Amino acid sequence: MKFQDYQYQRINIEDMGMQIAQLTTLLNDATSYQEFLQAFKEAEKLLSHASTMENLSYIRHSINTKDEFYDKENDFWDEHEPFLQKFLVSVVKAVLDSPYKEELKKDVPETFFLIGENALRSFDESIMEDLQEENRLTSEYDKLIASAQIEFDGKTCTLASLMAYFENPKEEVRRAAFGAYWGYLEEQEAQLDHIYDQLVKLRDKIAKKLGFDNFVELGYIRMDRFGYHQEEVATYRRQILNDAVPVANKLYEAQRVRLGLDKMLAHNNDYVFNTGNPTPKHDKDTMVGIAKEMYHEMSAETGEFIDFMIERELLDLEAKPGKMAGGYCTYISNYQSPFIFSNFNGTSGDVDVLTHEAGHAFQVYCSRWIKPENCIFPSSDGAEIHSMGMEFFAWPWMERFFGEDVDKYYYYHLASTIKFLPYGALVDHYQHEVYNHPEMSIAQRKDTWRRLEKQYLPHKNYEEVPFLEKGTWWFRQLHIFNYPFYYIDYTLAQVVALQFWRRLQEGDEKAFEDYHAICKIGGSKIFTDIVKAANLKSPFEEGCLVDVMKLADQYLENIQVK
Ligand code: ZN
Repeated sequence: MKFQDYQYQRINIEDMGMQIAQLTTLLNDATSYQEFLQAFKEAEKLLSHASTMENLSYIRHSINTKDEFYDKENDFWDEHEPFLQKFLVSVVKAVLDSPYKEELKKDVPETFFLIGENALRSFDESIMEDLQEENRLTSEYDKLIASAQIEFDGKTCTLASLMAYFENPKEEVRRAAFGAYWGYLEEQEAQLDHIYDQLVKLRDKIAKKLGFDNFVELGYIRMDRFGYHQEEVATYRRQILNDAVPVANKLYEAQRVRLGLDKMLAHNNDYVFNTGNPTPKHDKDTMVGIAKEMYHEMSAETGEFIDFMIERELLDLEAKPGKMAGGYCTYISNYQSPFIFSNFNGTSGDVDVLTHEAGHAFQVYCSRWIKPENCIFPSSDGAEIHSMGMEFFAWPWMERFFGEDVDKYYYYHLASTIKFLPYGALVDHYQHEVYNHPEMSIAQRKDTWRRLEKQYLPHKNYEEVPFLEKGTWWFRQLHIFNYPFYYIDYTLAQVVALQFWRRLQEGDEKAFEDYHAICKIGGSKIFTDIVKAANLKSPFEEGCLVDVMKLADQYLENIQVK
C-alpha cells in the first residue's frame, strides 16, 4: 500500500461527539477495570482515527495548497480541530476523575496522565471560538508565505527556492537574492504585523480566560514541558550567552577573514566558504538511494525503516509552486506510518532532511507500539534529540552525499549547530518579552527584537537592508507565528545531541544502542528522563554547555577549510 492509497474521509463531528459522550459515560459508570479499559481503548481508537483524517488532510494540503479539495478540507479542520481537543479533554477528564486511574497507569505511559492534566488546564469550552480564530490566523500566515512568487534569475521563485541563492558563490547574486527575499516580506509588512498582533492579543486573551496571568505559562503547558520552568530556561539562555555566543562569534570572524571581507554584511552570513558551501553531488532520486544504503548499513532496524518509507512513498521531498514552506515529519496513526515533507533546493539542507526528518521518522517508527498515540512523539524538547542525534550518527556516510566536500560538510554542520544555539535562544527570549508584555505596540516589538538580536547575534550587520535594522527578521520564523515557545526545544535537544557527537568522536560503541533505546521509549517518558535513559547530561546542569562547546571549538580549529 502506498501513501496515495491512504483513505481520507471527512469526520462527522456531530456523530463523533455522540460516540465520545457515550464512551465518557461508560468510563464514568464502569463497574470493573476491564469495562473501564475497554471503553478507554474504544475512545482512543476513535480519536486516533479522527487525528489520522485531520493529518491526511493537512499533509495533502501542505503538499499542494492550490488543491481545491484539500483546501476546503483544511478550512474544515481549522474550524473543527478544536472539537477533537474538546473530545480528548472529555475522555481525559473522565480518566483523571476515575477510581481506576491508578490501575490504568500499569497499561498506559505516565506521560499520558501528565499531558492529560495539561490538556485540561489549557482548554475550556469558552475558548472554542478563540482557538478557531487562532487556527485561521496561522493558516493565513502559512498561505502568505507559501503563495510568494518572486521573479528572480529568470525564474518564478518561492521564498524557499530563493534561499538557495544565499549560498551562491557570486556576491552580487547573494546580495540580489537577499534583497528580493526581504523585499517581498517588506511588501507584506503591514499584513504580517497585523497577523502577529492579532495572534499575540488573542493568545493573551485565551490565557486570561483560562485563569493564567498571561500566555507564557499557558505556552509552556501547551508545549508539555515537564520538570523545568521559565526560570530554568532563563538560566539556560544565560549559559548560551556566556558559553556559545563567544564560540559563534569566533566562527563568524573566521568566516570574515576566510572570505577576505572588511565586514560581514548580512547577505554573506550563509556563505561560509570561498569555495562555496558544501553541496550534495546528486539528484533527489540518487540521494534517496544513498540514504537507503546508509540506513541498511547503520543497523537492521534503520534498514527495515527506510524500506518501509520508500516502498510506501512516505517522502515528499522536492520544492514545488503552491507547496508550503519548511520541512516536517508527522505520524499517520491508522497506517502506523511516519511521513516526511520537505522542499529540496540543492543545498546541504536536502541531506539534513534525509538525516534530521528521517531521525524523527525512525523514532516514531520504533515507537509505534505505544498507545495512546499522543505518547508516540515525545514533547518537542525530547523529539529533536532523535532527529539531531541522527544527523550525527549519519556522519560516516556523508562522503557519499558530499564527495570531496565532506570535510567542509563536517565543519559546516558542526559550526551551524553552534551558531544555531544563540539564534534559538533569541527566538525564545523574544517570545518571553512579547507574551509577558502583551501591551507592547507593533513598533516596540520590533525594537525588542533588534535589541535582543544585538546581544545574541552581535555579528549581524544590516546596513544595506534598513528593513531588517528595524527588527523584522522574525517575520520569516514560522514558529514565532504558529508554534509559540517551540524554538528553545531545538537548542535543548541540540545540546543533548552534541553529547552523542562527542561519544561518537570518542569511539563509544554503545552510543547507537542508547540512541535506539530512546527511539523505542518515544514519548512514553518526559524530556529529563529521556536524557537520563540515553546516559547523557541534562542541558540544565551547570557547566554542561561549557564542556561541549570547548570540544566543538577544538574540533573546528583543527579542520582546514577554505
Ligand atoms: Zn525536527
